[in-house]
Amino acid sequence: GPTGPPGGAELIVRARRVIVAIGRSGHFRTLGAVGEHKPKVYHRLHDPKDFAGRNVLVVGGGDAALEASIALAAAGAHVTHSYRRGAFQRPKPENVETLRRLVADPAADVAVESPASERVTTSYSRAMGEPRNEGSIRPAMSTEVAAIHDDAVDLRRADGSVETVPNDVVFAMIGRQPPLEFFRRSGVPIRGEWRAGQIITFGLFIVFCVLLYHWKSAAGEIPLQSWFAAKGWFPFNVGRWFEALGPLAASAEDPTNVLYTLKHSMTTPGFYYSLAYCTCVVLFGLGRIRRRRTPYVKLQTCVLMAIQCVPLFVLPELLLPWAGRNGWFDRGTVAGAVADQFFEAADAPSDEQLQAAGADSISDWDRPIGRERQYWRAYGFVLAWPLFVWNVFTDRPLWGWLAVGVLQTFVVIPWLIHRYGKGAYCGWICSCGALAETMGDAHRHKMPHGPRWNRLNMAGQVVLALACLLLLLRIGGWIRPGSWMTRVYGALLSGVPFFNYKWSVDLMLAGVLGLGCYFWFSGRVWCRFACPLAALMHIYARFSKFRIFADKKKCISCNVCTSVCHQGIDVMNFANKAAPMEDPQCVRCSACVQSCPTGVLSFGRLGRHDHVVLDRVPASLLHVGAVGRPRPGHG
Ligand code: SF4
Ligand code: SF4
Ligand code: SF4
Repeated sequence: GPTGPPGGAELIVRARRVIVAIGRSGHFRTLGAVGEHKPKVYHRLHDPKDFAGRNVLVVGGGDAALEASIALAAAGAHVTHSYRRGAFQRPKPENVETLRRLVADPAADVAVESPASERVTTSYSRAMGEPRNEGSIRPAMSTEVAAIHDDAVDLRRADGSVETVPNDVVFAMIGRQPPLEFFRRSGVPIRGEWRAGQIITFGLFIVFCVLLYHWKSAAGEIPLQSWFAAKGWFPFNVGRWFEALGPLAASAEDPTNVLYTLKHSMTTPGFYYSLAYCTCVVLFGLGRIRRRRTPYVKLQTCVLMAIQCVPLFVLPELLLPWAGRNGWFDRGTVAGAVADQFFEAADAPSDEQLQAAGADSISDWDRPIGRERQYWRAYGFVLAWPLFVWNVFTDRPLWGWLAVGVLQTFVVIPWLIHRYGKGAYCGWICSCGALAETMGDAHRHKMPHGPRWNRLNMAGQVVLALACLLLLLRIGGWIRPGSWMTRVYGALLSGVPFFNYKWSVDLMLAGVLGLGCYFWFSGRVWCRFACPLAALMHIYARFSKFRIFADKKKCISCNVCTSVCHQGIDVMNFANKAAPMEDPQCVRCSACVQSCPTGVLSFGRLGRHDHVVLDRVPASLLHVGAVGRPRPGHG
């Protein structure tokens, strides 16, 4: 209610949503220039005719600034338009075009029929300006206001020189500060502002991830896994649980029985990691389907859940080991010969050998029953090189995986990207994408945006270059075993403690940083900044036909599409310009399309002769029922 309870007591109201209607959206942004508080400085334009014949400075690069300049010049003012950048990026193309026409011809027949924000500028029709006073516009790009005097303004150019321009009035149309103080007082967390509690929990979670990944992997840098194994701690003690199964305990000792395979898999940390991964993808995936409700999200999430559970869990952890123990891949059979090129035999060392060999060999530990193979390599059926390098970086060439790898990385993925965009793999197949789209769905808005962060997008190219270097060394080492190439390869891959690919890229970047940042920077940190496969796919994406098309007439510049993009893409910028979005970072998550309140955006591709072909599966509820029919504004 408008008033609190008597006596100043707190009134607690439960609500799912809060609408802040406090009457204003914050203070106007300031220029930071000397003299900006003079009475001739305005932030709103009410009647452009009042300024006919006067020297006006308009500052800003948005629609409000451009519309103010157009209306003022059309009403007879002599406008200098200052903008700190070299070109307009935000405003609608028609405003930029109208400004350009007025610059070229001050008598051009122009109008501002419906301003972007009626609260800061005003419409200006041709009739209002009769008889027409001739004004002018002079763009002053790459300038900032240095000082405002009574009859002039100083503009500082990018090279530091200062130009003084005669001036009667200034319009600083550079937007408003959001009412941050109000939100801080109300205890509402503000994105980008870190409180002590957040910093501490983030730090603790990173520490947890470091421990988790060293428990899961046999990294010598922090030998947590071998420590657990030596102590007989979880999961290395799980075999004993099966002894409590009574009559079933004997089955768990029979290598051909499925219980044996279950027991065996359950004594490896990787089993629990994969199980937790699947559980998260399925549970959060169901939440995503409930939250987003579009046919696209339903189909995409079901595919992601199926891929995560079957080829990335059941196959390597249960099905293949069980089949192997039942003789499917025995030596001397055709299947065995094929299996030799995919799953190397992993006959386990004896306990004495294990102890003598130390930590590193424990990760390859397997029960010595003579039918054990490295079935974990089955991840390679889904995860392609250079994201998953371990089927290519092997001691001897595994020709099966080399054939699959070439097909995946250089044939199938390029074709998918050409037709459907990078998201066909990153949003529909890859396990990292599966977790990001499900568990990360509620955190996608936390991805930082802006040019400063965009510069980091190239970090993946460095990781890709490293993977390519290792590949060359690996091939060289196969050709000339024992040469310097083999030694350098071994040192770079895992030999030099901490400064090796396995630990720094695979464990720390992809694992610790990727998962550690989930709840603070969104689930796509690894994908956006460091994934080497993504870096390779960005090269393929130059030839992609995939686009997000925008019906710009419907766009209300609400910025929702940009804010939900966990790949940091400024989607609104494309929508405002009606430019098809072709940023290679896009992973086809559909959050922008689904969240757009007016149905501006649609997935599609350029067909023959660049004809627009929209997706058949609607990614926005506003398009359900319109599939197959041309949507207005999409060409
Ligand atoms: S960017 Fe890399 S890790 Fe992320 S979904 Fe794509 S391929 Fe997978
Ligand atoms: S542009 Fe849209 S579909 Fe692409 S990643 Fe961003 S939010 Fe997802
Ligand atoms: S969400 Fe839709 S209406 Fe809002 S800015 Fe993006 S495209 Fe425009």
